[in-house]
Amino acid sequence: GVGLSASNMPEWKKDAYGKALTFGQRSKLSIQEQRKSLPIYKLKKELIQAVHDNQVLVVIGETGSGKTTQVPQYLAEAGYTTTGEIGCTQPRRVAATSVAKRVAEEFGCRLGEDVGYAIRFEDCTGADTVIKYMTDGMLLKEILIDENLSQYSVIMLDEAHERTISTDVLFGLLKQLVKRRPDLRLIVTSATLDAEKFSGYFFNCNIFTIPGRTFPVEIFYSKQPESDYLDAALITVLEIHLTEPEGDILLFLTGQEEIDFACESLHERIKRLGKNVPELLVLPAYSALPSEMQSKIFEPAPQGGRKVVVATNIAEASLTIDGIYYVIDPGFAKQNVYNPKQGVESLVITAISQASAKQRAGRAGRTGPGKCYRLYTESAYRNEMSPSTIPEIQRVDLGITTLTIKAMGINDLFSFDFMDSPPPQALISAMQQLFSLGALDEEGLLTKLGTKMAEFPLDPPLSKMLLASVSLGSSDEIITIIALIETGNIFHRPREKQAQADQKRAKFFQPEGDNFTLLTVYEAWKAKNFPLPWCFENFVQSQSLRRAQDVRKQLLSIMDKYKLDVVSAGKDTTKITKAIIAGFFFHVARKDPQEGYRTLVENQPVYIHPSSALFQIQPDWVIYNELIMTTKEYMRNVTSIDPKWLTELAPRFFKVANPTTLSKRKCRERIEPLHDKYHEPNSWRLSKRRG
Ligand code: ADP
Ligand code: MG
Repeated sequence: GVGLSASNMPEWKKDAYGKALTFGQRSKLSIQEQRKSLPIYKLKKELIQAVHDNQVLVVIGETGSGKTTQVPQYLAEAGYTTTGEIGCTQPRRVAATSVAKRVAEEFGCRLGEDVGYAIRFEDCTGADTVIKYMTDGMLLKEILIDENLSQYSVIMLDEAHERTISTDVLFGLLKQLVKRRPDLRLIVTSATLDAEKFSGYFFNCNIFTIPGRTFPVEIFYSKQPESDYLDAALITVLEIHLTEPEGDILLFLTGQEEIDFACESLHERIKRLGKNVPELLVLPAYSALPSEMQSKIFEPAPQGGRKVVVATNIAEASLTIDGIYYVIDPGFAKQNVYNPKQGVESLVITAISQASAKQRAGRAGRTGPGKCYRLYTESAYRNEMSPSTIPEIQRVDLGITTLTIKAMGINDLFSFDFMDSPPPQALISAMQQLFSLGALDEEGLLTKLGTKMAEFPLDPPLSKMLLASVSLGSSDEIITIIALIETGNIFHRPREKQAQADQKRAKFFQPEGDNFTLLTVYEAWKAKNFPLPWCFENFVQSQSLRRAQDVRKQLLSIMDKYKLDVVSAGKDTTKITKAIIAGFFFHVARKDPQEGYRTLVENQPVYIHPSSALFQIQPDWVIYNELIMTTKEYMRNVTSIDPKWLTELAPRFFKVANPTTLSKRKCRERIEPLHDKYHEPNSWRLSKRRG
């Protein structure tokens, strides 16, 4: 723990609590009064004028000043919605939906009428929608269909400092677009730190500053590095709850599992403290949480009690929760990290940057002077944390990005106007992957297949798998499998009933592999007419299955739009396995005579994850959807394959070694990855431009 008590709290701080407007008071204001109490409100006229005078404008202001919720409404009032919609992008799905909900309420309409949102696999907009919140990924899809974004009069790239890969690509595309469409207004909002850089990139445009209304935040560091940050965090929550004056707590953790565990554990620990302890409302916050649960974090704390929000990075900037006086920051976050050599992307828990740490601390100073408990040492903060987070484009798989940019008719990625360029090696490996998938031709130009792949909001291996399944005659099943992969975990495995849950899950196991297991669960659920008790009984998450059903519907409507057949493979599971291979062939592993498996491409030792249906079977050849590194490098979501299908389905990637000199049996064993000739960046750079 950090070992702090109320006694060493400075005097001025105690006074300040009395003066600040508490959330309880603020929430009693009418919704319109709340709008007027935001810092941005006083600058409404100036802001509208600035947008009128500047085609591109960078807007900066503290989180919670009202940028996301107010700017689109002000511009709607100023008449910008008469010529088109106001589109406002968010890096996160949760932010898009939650903000849209709030703004609809402020605007006085139902969600999906004047104010709506669009996120992947979910469109909540209508004919009347004039203010549209959406993920940056969605706007990227829209610009692919209409490169002029003609339906919009204003685009606001919100939270641009998050530097998601989609926002970064939009930067480049919109920089071009504003030249073509002088009537379009572009607003880029950002944290203070990046404002100059953003302005420089966008033709040295003006910067509009909303003066902050922030209070000082006192920072406490751990004296020694914490050996168990989760436990330290929970102890700190209880210490604050028992010793500090009123005010809510925000604890940053890395992901759903950790958060669910922390919440459970907090409930237990509070219970053990007995009845005399004031109420502590424990609220989780992460993207996969159903939206009813997410709205709860905005509700006021119980009378005389306190709330603690246990959140992922989503509460760092995208969501503003009022009434937070205490922030606990263990210093970690989950980040997508791509290894171009292995061609795998994985979510890894990494140390946050100093910029992130500052942002997290700032969350405590919005309603009054606050405190931030950093569960790492001051020296770690100064010497080990990087000053700012590396933009996503420099650390993730560029497959879908490359495909999207190429589909925009921009062929030369090396001269694309990126704010920060991706590493050339990552671009090359993305192009190699797209080439072997058949999405690019030998000159690096988009093929017909590639064009179709770009229509789907899926990573290239998945869209390839889907399109291959159409000709293989298994698209009905493959759509379900993709929907389930996109949904994430569908099995429920409560800590206290793990053995029972595993037993139930094993009943669904299929010898063909885990994708088939997923399919079997879904089919069983559907056949039984989606019963909730059945889900409980079988330790299956009905929420996830329902989401998968929605994703399936969305994919079906895209299939319908492009007139692609939805056919069932019936009993012929080979057709399904072949489609899986068509998308994931570069993830092949074969059994190692010693132990475990070795990947065909890098000859790296890997193992079947113990939760897999194939863990007991250990077939000779497998294909996996992803690798996760825990104690070993584990293959997750594994399918058993016949190696002879590799050369049939991925002829650009595999060949049979010396077929003339080997026996038929040997041939099967001697399948080797074919390393393509486009290894030099220059050969891509010299390729022809299209259009
Ligand atoms: P910024 O974008 O500058 O960070 P926002 O416009 O997101 O600021 O937030 C302004 C105010 O609106 C905040 O004080 C916050 O409390 C409130 N708010 C935003 N979203 C919601 C929501 N979903 N429910 C309740 N209040 C919200
Ligand atoms: Mg915002």
